[in-house]
Amino acid sequence: MKTLNRPLWRLALCASALSLAACTATPSRDMAATPAAMQAAPALSTAAAPAAAPNASALPHVVVLATGGTIAGAGASAASSATYQAAKVPVEQLLTGLPELGKVARVSGEQVFQIASESFTNEQLLTLARRVQALVRQPDVQGIVITHGTDTMEETGFFLNLVVQTDKPVVLVGSMRPGTALSADGALNLLGAVSVAASKDAAGKGVLVSMHDEIHTARDVAKLANIKTSAFASPWGPLGMVVEGKAWWFRAPVKRHTSASEFSIDRIQTLPAVDIVYSYANVPATALDALGAAGAQAIIHAGTGNGSVADRIVPKLNQWRSKGVVVVRSSRIPGGFVLRNAEQPDDKYDWVVAHDLNPQKARLLTAVALTQTKDTRELQRIFWEY
Ligand code: ASP
Repeated sequence: MKTLNRPLWRLALCASALSLAACTATPSRDMAATPAAMQAAPALSTAAAPAAAPNASALPHVVVLATGGTIAGAGASAASSATYQAAKVPVEQLLTGLPELGKVARVSGEQVFQIASESFTNEQLLTLARRVQALVRQPDVQGIVITHGTDTMEETGFFLNLVVQTDKPVVLVGSMRPGTALSADGALNLLGAVSVAASKDAAGKGVLVSMHDEIHTARDVAKLANIKTSAFASPWGPLGMVVEGKAWWFRAPVKRHTSASEFSIDRIQTLPAVDIVYSYANVPATALDALGAAGAQAIIHAGTGNGSVADRIVPKLNQWRSKGVVVVRSSRIPGGFVLRNAEQPDDKYDWVVAHDLNPQKARLLTAVALTQTKDTRELQRIFWEY
């Protein structure tokens, strides 16, 4: 790596509010190298809050749970908007680097994990859900913000939407550029998310994702672009917008979530193995058979179009179904929904359809539902309702 021009580099990085680490620490030529210690999941730690406004005690208390991702990422230069290490900057620096937070909420922070979100495991989902559930039970906590990598943000958000019992706002946020990049998006995203979590109107709307001024329900939203900052969209549209610290609402979710959910993190010890098989022209049954043989309790078939299944895969899915594996027919198309008994005779095969949930969300709903039932009629009801 070329030696960077230190003063210019520091100036560029300090232009971003989420780059306190770069502004205060001595720049290192080895920034791109991630020490192993940074990647391990640290124990929960509590972070200092940003400077509070004079009437701070009147502001809602929002806890920021940090899990890593690009919003905690750092690159080697201000021009490195896509080449960087995720999960480097600790929550203390994310919060103290953004004093504007103190005007919308009393903010405290905890480092739950420090990972890139593509590496999330079921165990980490459970750990995070338990922490969120414990915090929302505290009377002194009004809202939760979770900083998260964008890759699987929609999965974590949807999982929490299913299993956390609360009406308090729980808001996920990330960024597409690290705080060290020019036009970094993390600072404004974080301010928006804390503003949403502090907003009374966000209560009862389930788990939300606040990205790039838009507020989405975690149920609907998906990452639909990489590289571009406007990466998140919901097939049925966002719920609202957050502008200059104020949330504006236009829609509300109609599906069951959080306090109206029949599922609770208090009753879930582990998640069963549920895996996804992706379809495409010329698809073989190799992956399906390997996952079935490895003990998958359900297979999500990410079909083409309206959840279509290749003719040679149908008997294979039915073989696994006859051995007790649940088959969920979903679609790889982001938009629309799979119609029961349209492309395939689901009643005859005893399959379940994923409705409008994408395969990765169908995986989570199936896993959560399987902790309560293996009855396919019940599973289908759950897919219609959540
Ligand atoms: N790979 C990163 C992650 O999901 C991407 C991001 O955060 O934008 O952690």
